[in-house]
Amino acid sequence: MKNEYRVVVVGGGIIGCSVAYHLAKFGETDVAVFEKDFISSGSTGRCAGGIRQQWSSPHNVILAMRSVSLFEKLSGETATDIEYKQGGYLVLSYSEDEAREFEKNVRMQRELGLDVEILTPKQIKERYPYLNTEGVKLATFCQKDGHANPHLANFAYARAARKMGVHLFTHTKVVGIEFHRSSFIIHTNRGTVKTRFVVNAAGSYSRDVGKMVNIDLPTESYRHQIMVTEAVRNFLDPMVISFSGNFYIRQSKHGQFIMGQGDADEKPGINYDVTFKFEKDMVQKMMNIFPPFGNLRIIRHWSGHYNMSPDAQPIIGQSSAVPGFYYAVGFSGHGFMLAPAVGEAIAQMMLHGKSIHVDISELDIDRFKKGVLREKNVV
Ligand SMILES: Cc1cc2nc3c(=O)[nH]c(=O)nc-3n(C[C@H](O)[C@H](O)[C@H](O)COP(=O)(O)OP(=O)(O)OC[C@H]3O[C@@H](n4cnc5c(N)ncnc54)[C@H](O)[C@@H]3O)c2cc1C
Repeated sequence: MKNEYRVVVVGGGIIGCSVAYHLAKFGETDVAVFEKDFISSGSTGRCAGGIRQQWSSPHNVILAMRSVSLFEKLSGETATDIEYKQGGYLVLSYSEDEAREFEKNVRMQRELGLDVEILTPKQIKERYPYLNTEGVKLATFCQKDGHANPHLANFAYARAARKMGVHLFTHTKVVGIEFHRSSFIIHTNRGTVKTRFVVNAAGSYSRDVGKMVNIDLPTESYRHQIMVTEAVRNFLDPMVISFSGNFYIRQSKHGQFIMGQGDADEKPGINYDVTFKFEKDMVQKMMNIFPPFGNLRIIRHWSGHYNMSPDAQPIIGQSSAVPGFYYAVGFSGHGFMLAPAVGEAIAQMMLHGKSIHVDISELDIDRFKKGVLREKNVV
């Protein structure tokens, strides 16, 4: 470890590694990433890997569209197959009110240039005969949505960043940060370094890291459980999701089904336990929606966290109170899919004073002074 780096990134999840990768790609390689455990050990390595552009808030649509254009090049750019598949996302609505919301969202998404279809239950059944459409009012579908393997994507960024000169330190926990006008002293369990810029990419621990420089980031982490079945022949091309039905499911490249649902009774905090109730509820729901699933065996079940913001949109920017302190936090269950655009935008802000491809100026912490408009398309 050197005594000084120009940039220190706290967190080796997909956000921290994407920031580091983009900084290096744009020429800044004097970067240290400090990760308290190992690369992809946080929410990234526990997530479903869904990549969706169909959102209710324009910011999320714009960030996701930019991310998709970067995901399309990521395997080639990093020489790592991230198992990226653009099999589409089928978003099911189970209520009339939600169906009207979806129609409104689709108008906004199309205005932003996204190619989205609206499907009737009959059209859904024609395309996906194995899906039970009972109770479904309509679905929206975007073919360019899809999924990738989160571990491979996280490691693709980490390895490519390291190859370009970034220093990655695992099992290195940031325990304190001192701010001295135009520089920071970073205290870790393995030593102390000086830096000009800090990026808080600490995922579920984003609030703790903000507090180290007296910034109260309004984020809270909630446990989310997820499980995977044994592998069968590939037949489910799209990722299927429903907000009112409260589930998502996709089939991986190797044939396993990965699925999850939210739990409105969860309390904020870090909790990695798993419950039998989750398995039972999930299995019952899935056997109703995908009747052929009846004989599938569950092989693994784990949990991770959504780092929630008050409006379920990410909080990204540079602190005005502590110049040089950047944050990319509060991803509210969609940080994997937004990581390419967010990493690029933070790197551009740091090196050029503003992000070039997407405008993130309205996503900083100050937006909460004006009130919140909540992103609704979250499970
Ligand atoms: C069950 C589940 C399903 C999900 N499905 C999807 C999905 O389909 N699509 C999607 O886009 N998103 C999904 N998400 C959300 C997604 O996982 C997160 O938004 C994303 O991984 C956030 O990335 P990150 O790098 O910010 O956080 P993380 O991956 O958690 O990385 C943060 C890292 O910071 C480290 N760290 C924390 N504090 C310190 C410290 N003091 N010093 C050093 N290191 C520190 C942690 O160890 C961690 O590795 C899901 C999440 C869960 C739990």
